[in-house]
Amino acid sequence: MEAVYSGSAMPGGCVIGVDLGGTKLLAGVVDRDLVVHHRASRRSPSADAEELLSQVVSTVVEARDASETDVLAVGFGIPSSLDVSFRDVIAERVGMPVFAGGAATLAMLAEHRYGAARGASDAVLLTLGAGIGGALVVGGRLVTGTAVSPGHMVVDLDGPPCACGSSGCLETLASGSALGREGARVARAASDSALGAALEAGRSITGALVTELAHDGDRAARDVVALVGMRLGVGIANLVNLLGSSVVVIGGGMVAAGDMLLEPARTVVRERALPGSREAVSIVPARFGEEAGMLGAALLAFDGLGSAAAAA
Ligand SMILES: [Zn+2]
Repeated sequence: MEAVYSGSAMPGGCVIGVDLGGTKLLAGVVDRDLVVHHRASRRSPSADAEELLSQVVSTVVEARDASETDVLAVGFGIPSSLDVSFRDVIAERVGMPVFAGGAATLAMLAEHRYGAARGASDAVLLTLGAGIGGALVVGGRLVTGTAVSPGHMVVDLDGPPCACGSSGCLETLASGSALGREGARVARAASDSALGAALEAGRSITGALVTELAHDGDRAARDVVALVGMRLGVGIANLVNLLGSSVVVIGGGMVAAGDMLLEPARTVVRERALPGSREAVSIVPARFGEEAGMLGAALLAFDGLGSAAAAA
């Protein structure tokens, strides 16, 4: 990756960016040019807070021990379900300053500063994973401190129940979990497809598996990805009508589906968003892909160190 960060005049050293997603915990040792020197990850982070804390600490320590350069701080993207005291406990256990922000907000920080939304005055980012997270740039500024929850925008009055207590929310229809669920439904009906064969072989039908089979050319899997892409397009059309965003960045694990997912979404937006908005908006994958959140967390740590130095 080309060098993209030439921030403050502080001397070398790295930070660790941590992205805590629903299905994966990813930590990376990152330098000021946003080059990732080491990665450490854990699959299926625990739902138990104490266990999760241990997993985070051990992942950070593993990344730090692998680094040949000094690690100065940790930036941490936390899902909105975790409270801020988490940050203080981690700082104490790893013995470094820890800076925390919302996971999707940090992905947008990286994408707006150096990635797919660079220079945009109004942009929205959706992270498609186990759920759907979101972040906004309004008037050229990243919106922080306010929870943005596009995943709970209701797009189907009679849709499936959602963890939030409502039903028909966008994340019940267009998240990675929804892709897996839809894939399982189609697998049962299409036993002659690769998707059906996978189910018969006892594999669990996840969003990642559906995406993999779609890339391999399985028609049933491709249809599922396209259907989820159309639903995503409905959500995006609503957001664009509401916010007037000119750039919509799609991040999170589902970005691996690429244009198989995004092209049906673009078609729906062209049909459904208001004239003026529908021509102006571009729907693009995150430049930093699944690592946008981790890199944004690293940027937050560098920014935090910079202001700490300025305040000293
Ligand atoms: Zn919901």
